[in-house]
Amino acid sequence: MLLDVFLTDQEKALKREVRNFAKDVPPELTKQLDRDEIRYPREYVKKLGDRNLIGLRFPRKYGGRGLTWTAEIAALEEIGVLGTALGCAFAMPSIVGEALNVFGTEEQKEKFLRPMLKGDLVSAEALTEPRGGSDFFGATTRAELKNGTFTVSGQKRFVVGADSADFFIVYVNTNPTGKPHERISLLLIERDRPGVEVKYLYGLLGTRGGGTGRIVFRDVKVPDSNLIGKINEGGTIFNTMMIPERLTSAGASLGMGRAALEVAMRYSDRRKAFGQKIRTFEGVSFKVADAITELDAARALTFAAGKTVDLKLPTARRLASEAKKCATDAAWNIVNLSMQIIGGIGYTNVFPIEKMVRDTRLIQIWTGTNEIMNLLIQHEFYREVLGDPNPGRNIEVDAPEGHMKDEIVYEDDEMWTKGW
Ligand SMILES: Cc1cc2nc3c(=O)[nH]c(=O)nc-3n(C[C@H](O)[C@H](O)[C@H](O)COP(=O)(O)OP(=O)(O)OC[C@H]3O[C@@H](n4cnc5c(N)ncnc54)[C@H](O)[C@@H]3O)c2cc1C
Repeated sequence: MLLDVFLTDQEKALKREVRNFAKDVPPELTKQLDRDEIRYPREYVKKLGDRNLIGLRFPRKYGGRGLTWTAEIAALEEIGVLGTALGCAFAMPSIVGEALNVFGTEEQKEKFLRPMLKGDLVSAEALTEPRGGSDFFGATTRAELKNGTFTVSGQKRFVVGADSADFFIVYVNTNPTGKPHERISLLLIERDRPGVEVKYLYGLLGTRGGGTGRIVFRDVKVPDSNLIGKINEGGTIFNTMMIPERLTSAGASLGMGRAALEVAMRYSDRRKAFGQKIRTFEGVSFKVADAITELDAARALTFAAGKTVDLKLPTARRLASEAKKCATDAAWNIVNLSMQIIGGIGYTNVFPIEKMVRDTRLIQIWTGTNEIMNLLIQHEFYREVLGDPNPGRNIEVDAPEGHMKDEIVYEDDEMWTKGW
């Protein structure tokens, strides 16, 4: 098993524990969520809290388990089989909790982190605005600080969990004339503050029941004790927050791909065409081979990314972005291959693959689109390669005609300055 390479006995035990939890989730809950009959799975979150399964990485003194990213990724794969709404309800405290645990005050940790890890408080992260989600530093939701109180006005949209959250962490513009990296701050805003309005608006393709909504802030008064980290340091905080956003997406994607593939494998082992099991056709079994290879590659990269974060290596941000891109693309490919294996009945809701297709389409978009992942990956890798103090062999020396320096032209101008 690939996982044996990555997991300690303790992590394997956690994986089994979470697997059993996922198996116990009533099928009726997943169906009601998908029918939009339940807007947010609050009872499920409470059950996670009761079993001490929320915020596994956070210190025990706040109610976490003090585990590593490796452990959390193993858990996320098991929860991911439940789809994006329940996966996100599990993952959101890991994201919001990171901000509170790393940058929050002791008072914020006691008041918000601890009850959140028990499942008593629900949180949401509000970054995206109607004007866009990719351009983080362009946020226009304003927060003006006067005499110890922020006044917040603006809107955030597509906020998962908004419908049920007791508090939001909200990226706000506190310095509109400053340099982009010095404009943003992170505020914790309780839902019951006057001027906060949540609208449950969207007819979503999937991820129904995740409580996705729009939040409007109309002159909301927020005490400066709700500032997370320092003023105008939201950019630095976001750099840290990228990690849990991306690794939780990656980890849960593994479960989505795996669950769909297993359905297709069971089906192909029983379904017959031309008098034989369809898995005996190369056109079917090679799809399974492609899918499991892609899934294992995504799994290996996701665990490797988790380990770089645990070890605080400088490549952590790049690897977390690669893992998010690779695992979400893999899950999308695998659920589609799984649907193809099942044939027409896979396109109906007699099988759960169609829901997985609807769910996984989102994961390439949220927590930063996969194009934004590419932006970051190439940026960081250029920096690593061009700044490497001890690079490997430069194979340019091995080019047979490499001595023809006049042929190595980087800019038009060089031809003229060097002469013909
Ligand atoms: C169901 C759902 C749940 C969500 N949950 C949350 C949440 O809980 N909290 C939250 O804050 N947000 C959430 N989001 C928002 C999500 O993160 C954004 O939709 C996403 O970041 C993209 O932002 P956008 O939709 O504004 O697209 P835009 O930023 O307008 O981008 C549109 C397209 O342009 C591309 N693009 C933009 N800039 C570049 C560039 N520089 N280079 C290459 N391509 C580029 C993008 O990749 C994308 O394809 C959720 C979205 C959905 C649909």
